Amino acid sequence: MAIIKDSFFINGRWVKAQSSETFEVFTSGTGELYATIPAGTVAEANSAVEAAAAAFPAWSVMAAKDRGEFLSRVSEKLAERSDEIALCIANEVGMPLMLAKGIQAGIPTATFADNAARAADFEWEEEVGNSTLVREPVGVVACITPWNYPLHQIANKVAAALAAGCTVVLKPSEVAPINAFILAEIFEEVGLPAGVFNLVTGSGPVVGEAIVAHPKTDMISFTGSTRAGKRVMEIAADMVKRVSLELGGKSANIILDDADFATAIPDGIFKCYLNSGQTCSALTRMLVPRSRLAEAEDLAVATVAGYTPADPITGASLLGPLVSAAQKERVLGYIRKGIDEGARLIAGGLDAPEGLEQGYYVAPTIFSDVRNDMTIAQEEIFGPVLSIIPYDSEEEAIAIANDSLYGLSGGVWAGTKEKAFEVARKIRTGQVEINGGNFNIFAPFGGYKQSGIGRELGKYGFEEFLEVKAIQK
Ligand code: NAD
Repeated sequence: MAIIKDSFFINGRWVKAQSSETFEVFTSGTGELYATIPAGTVAEANSAVEAAAAAFPAWSVMAAKDRGEFLSRVSEKLAERSDEIALCIANEVGMPLMLAKGIQAGIPTATFADNAARAADFEWEEEVGNSTLVREPVGVVACITPWNYPLHQIANKVAAALAAGCTVVLKPSEVAPINAFILAEIFEEVGLPAGVFNLVTGSGPVVGEAIVAHPKTDMISFTGSTRAGKRVMEIAADMVKRVSLELGGKSANIILDDADFATAIPDGIFKCYLNSGQTCSALTRMLVPRSRLAEAEDLAVATVAGYTPADPITGASLLGPLVSAAQKERVLGYIRKGIDEGARLIAGGLDAPEGLEQGYYVAPTIFSDVRNDMTIAQEEIFGPVLSIIPYDSEEEAIAIANDSLYGLSGGVWAGTKEKAFEVARKIRTGQVEINGGNFNIFAPFGGYKQSGIGRELGKYGFEEFLEVKAIQK
């Protein structure tokens, strides 16, 4: 039985949608209907912004530690419902359940807890000469989020904005929205003051653009494609609103000649295929010394044998399906393009994985002998497709890594951490992991170049939602 949602959370209440228009959400593993959600109108988007604006004066002056208390309770409730959240996102997005539990449910829980603590401990004032610098919340924030790590991306924005004293209107992705309804239920349960958090679902061009354009919205925090991010920035420019953008990526993983290939190559494949490659920071370009290309290919092909796709709920694989039929078609289009442009297919390809005709599965695919000017090396594919690019010198590897419109993430593998660190400094991206360094939820995440503006997570992510006022004495 499909889940049916017919209301929005506005001003502390569930408000029945005006329009009978809906969006359908499909189970990635089977293609069956999973849920329907209401398509919001401009009027509903506007009433959510009005509610957030009305709630701002009281919420913004509440003691920060009291705001933190609400967020702590939200974190506890998220933990209590983590099995349900993991199952929901495994259905909506297709990430295997065993990974979804830790990543899709676990990380947002930790992010709420971190922001709760930060609100309580933050130095809100600072003395500089004859000035007192006062940090104040920006105001009403429109949060617009994508589907790939849906609750994580919501938490990055909503937890930090609320901790900072802002009020929020959330427009989650229409592709994976049910987790956002769970979060709204939790806000209701913990008794968050009315209007501090509002949820309206619907399309980007209708609800998204309405909350961006509304005169009472002070800031837009957007995660999604570079295309939609540019549109949001264009609309926001009219009223000079603050914009924070987390956009696409095409990250390079430089494997230097003296690296431990037996560890680096399997790790690189995991970092490319996580969430079926639907990760903005996925390491999708693997750069290997030309002299060791054959060895790298052999290790890569052997590793892929361990990534047989399976149903995300009932299977026991690290690789599930893609999120939707449209995404599957898009990814197959890129595989076709790679073949047409002359890249050498060494694993996977266009055929559906055996026995998985239902659902949105694509075989884990590797191209070798990829040139960096090929489409598959320049554009974000968002599927389980790795491009192996050979290089002849360290300088060339760094130049290839930086030859991208994007600048989100990257990896470096070397014989020593010192060497990897030296190369990491030369990569123009917001994050770089060396010798397999782990993702850190307290470190700022965001992009150089067309990967975005601003940072999320930790102290830097929190400060995005603050203004600074200098009072001279
Ligand atoms: P998308 O741009 O299609 O949609 C993202 C959100 O924006 C959705 O809620 C959508 O409804 C809304 N939207 C679309 N058009 C809009 C408009 N004109 N005005 C306002 N809102 C609009 O992206 P997606 O397909 O959901 O997500 C995948 C993309 O997100 C990839 O490019 C990926 O790299 C990027 N992403 C980036 C990060 C990061 O932190 N840098 C993280 C995750 C995903």
